[in-house]
Amino acid sequence: MKVLCKIASLGCRCVLLFALLIFTQNVFAFQPLRTDGGMKIHWEKNPVIYKIHNGTSDPCVGNTINTINAAFNVWASVPTQILNVQYGGTTPNNEFCGMDYKGTGCDSENIILFAPGSYFPSGVLAMTVNYYRVSDGVIMGTDMAFNDSFNWSDDPGVCNGYSLPGVAVHEIGHFYGLDHSFCSDIGATFTPSIAATMYPYYFDNDYAEMLTLEQDDIAGVTWMYPDPALTGWGKIKGRVKYKNGQGLFGVQVTAIRASDKVPVVTTFTRGTGKYTLYGLPPDDYYVYVNTPRISGTLFTNFVSDYWSDPDKVPYILLYKQVKVNKRTNLGPGGIPFTKPEAKIITVVADTTITDVNFTYPNP
Ligand SMILES: [Zn+2]
Repeated sequence: MKVLCKIASLGCRCVLLFALLIFTQNVFAFQPLRTDGGMKIHWEKNPVIYKIHNGTSDPCVGNTINTINAAFNVWASVPTQILNVQYGGTTPNNEFCGMDYKGTGCDSENIILFAPGSYFPSGVLAMTVNYYRVSDGVIMGTDMAFNDSFNWSDDPGVCNGYSLPGVAVHEIGHFYGLDHSFCSDIGATFTPSIAATMYPYYFDNDYAEMLTLEQDDIAGVTWMYPDPALTGWGKIKGRVKYKNGQGLFGVQVTAIRASDKVPVVTTFTRGTGKYTLYGLPPDDYYVYVNTPRISGTLFTNFVSDYWSDPDKVPYILLYKQVKVNKRTNLGPGGIPFTKPEAKIITVVADTTITDVNFTYPNP
């Protein structure tokens, strides 16, 4: 498991992923990048132009420009979002906007380049830096660097290297302003077809899945740049709280499709304990909650603990109060429910289901 990328946001202190989840005041669905003040980091100009400085000479990559452009097209093809991102040709500009390089490239020209390994933290494949206005989170420029000390490939299935199209699709999600998402399988199994494209780790042998967006990614980019006429999606809202009424912050909430138990959209509760699951296609869902914070497990340890032994995470609730530790244990197709509290929620187009609340014992 390799770290897919580091995301750095200039304009505020550079914070790592997990710190964002725990300490940022406002966290929201599928994780838009946010400023310290809670503003979402996003583009206002439309269209947005990107340019390519150089390609890789790795023999398993045919034409870097074509590969990068195809990756941008994956996001551009989401019909419910309206940000128009266009290729503007090549550029001699190689000044990368990032603390790991000169720090002089923070300009309005959005460049993509292959850079020496010395630009990157150890083990990081690629890096995207958004340079934004602190007051409102509007992106002024974004640069993206791929670590050329690794071998890249257009298709690792036939020629050895890291998937350039796969990593590029992930990085471009950051270019749009999306943070990492932990929408993935439940339990110790990693299922590539389920994990969000913005999931922060690279797994070998998942190349085809890396090239397609999941609903969590699509919901995220649509929330950022919506074409409201086109979605026809519904929402589920609620609150996670202690019995004494105090809200729980930073709890992960996931909508799981009832028919096949696939996690579709995930979010985190805000400081008040409130959450909104946005971008749900009409269907039947379970709502699933886990709470690493009140279990005493720091989020930095949560993912590894959870995957090695789901029972280490004591609170896994399904609307309501049913403990599960594997996706396949949910209803038909797995072990049948033995507790009637688990409820299916039916989402219909353009409506919001409210008061899907979870209550924990007092701390
Ligand atoms: Zn990333």
